[in-house]
Amino acid sequence: MLMGRRSRKRYKKVGAALRRAPSRFQCPTCGLMTLTVSIDRDVGSAVVSCSNQKCGLRATLANVPKIYQEVDIYAKFLDKFTEGSIEVVYSRGVEGDEVEG
Ligand SMILES: [Zn+2]
Repeated sequence: MLMGRRSRKRYKKVGAALRRAPSRFQCPTCGLMTLTVSIDRDVGSAVVSCSNQKCGLRATLANVPKIYQEVDIYAKFLDKFTEGSIEVVYSRGVEGDEVEG
């Protein structure tokens, strides 16, 4: 009775669709919907980064379960961010030579 579990070919659609549309979330620091999550499933880690140049928040989560999706990572990040148990860096103004204002 253990057989038959692996042959679920019909499930494929989901992964392909998700890659194309990167989810955006609200950044806890600047409050804009500029937070993106990228998951490295090979390594089992995820990077959360804010695309607002004035903010530049960036954090890495390790030991990400394979079933996690972007929104799960985001929720977990918020938890850790709130309790201060995750290392967050701000890369604003660090790279590039452009100076505004
Ligand atoms: Zn931000």
